[in-house]
Amino acid sequence: MTTQINSARLWNDIHESGKIGATEKGGLCRLALSDEDRRVREWFVEACRAEGCEVRFDEVGNLFARRPGRRSDLHPIAIGSHLDSQPTGGKFDGILGVLAGLEAVRTLNEHGIETEHPIEIIDWTNEEGARFAPAMQGSGVFAGALEKETVLSCRDREGLVFGEELDRIGFRGEEICGDHPLDSYFELHIEQGPILENDKKVIGVVVGVQGMRWYDLTLEGSASHAGTTPMKLRRDASVAAAEIITAVNRLAEEIGEGALATTGVIDAYPNSRNVVPSRVFMTVDLRHTEVEVLDRMEERLKEIVSTMGSQHQVSEKLDRLWDSPPVKFDAECVGVVRESAKQSGHPLREITSGAGHDAVYVSRVAPTAMIFIPCKDGISHNEIESASREHVGAGTSVLLEAIRLRDRRWG
Ligand SMILES: [Zn+2]
Repeated sequence: MTTQINSARLWNDIHESGKIGATEKGGLCRLALSDEDRRVREWFVEACRAEGCEVRFDEVGNLFARRPGRRSDLHPIAIGSHLDSQPTGGKFDGILGVLAGLEAVRTLNEHGIETEHPIEIIDWTNEEGARFAPAMQGSGVFAGALEKETVLSCRDREGLVFGEELDRIGFRGEEICGDHPLDSYFELHIEQGPILENDKKVIGVVVGVQGMRWYDLTLEGSASHAGTTPMKLRRDASVAAAEIITAVNRLAEEIGEGALATTGVIDAYPNSRNVVPSRVFMTVDLRHTEVEVLDRMEERLKEIVSTMGSQHQVSEKLDRLWDSPPVKFDAECVGVVRESAKQSGHPLREITSGAGHDAVYVSRVAPTAMIFIPCKDGISHNEIESASREHVGAGTSVLLEAIRLRDRRWG
């Protein structure tokens, strides 16, 4: 029997928390380690303590609220996400995943349900990366992907230091970041894209996060007079760039199977209306869930660039500057999410995350899975970001049942 969460109570929590850092347009401005971040943390800690949870935080401010299990020798099953937001963010991104954990604990308490494992709710510090860069710093240090000292000493645009701001809001803990074994980690999040909504599905069983590769491309031709240089004698960098852009777009279509290719930046030099452009700088972003496919896409990109370069007699320089490999979530954890989603009766589908999440880093150190629910028109990182109360409730019920399945099986 599925235990019913109280979706009205959860909805109320989301809107209570949304008052802290509320913007005029109904969104949130709750930057990491700001006064608003402190206030929402204090509000959250009080709510967790009222449910009998023991609250701890580590040296980068990651916050852990633990509901004891029957067996103290087992590591906790964790539910988490982040309470910080973009400067013009929404009420659901991240917040849902943390408050769903609180609702899960409240439901267990209300029904007097004991678990074998302790259950933990986690608020990761600075997921958004809007004030301090890069993003996902708390979970990144936790997983050993980012250096603690680098994070503690990084500065915002006003020159304020992460570690000093953490002290100022009173959330620097004693616990060594990462010295905190987890049995498993589950994160509920809005999709931040249009796939579930378009497909009329309520639950996304997230199987992984796609990989991405970033490239810089510079094309070098020759500047000449637009009125005196015959077409045949030109070395026009922007014509080569135009052909590359359309070929890169076709590349994704040729590869198919969810491949994405984008030319996001294009700068032409000297950028003058009566000069044949001598140089173009552009960027390419390739994404896919499989490394082998990314490799094929990269090979194809190199071919395109060299073919178009020689056709238009421009030299080309292609550099890969970032490679973020695809993540596949833990099969057992994804399995309990799928099972729980099926039991719930809500329409579901498997989905791959196009965006990064704390779960990406946590998956390096603990078995991990994610659950998505639709967000209105696929819009996120925007004050108008919205999700329905029904979907919020459905996602949280699926989350609670998934951790109970995990608890029963891995006791
Ligand atoms: Zn988020």
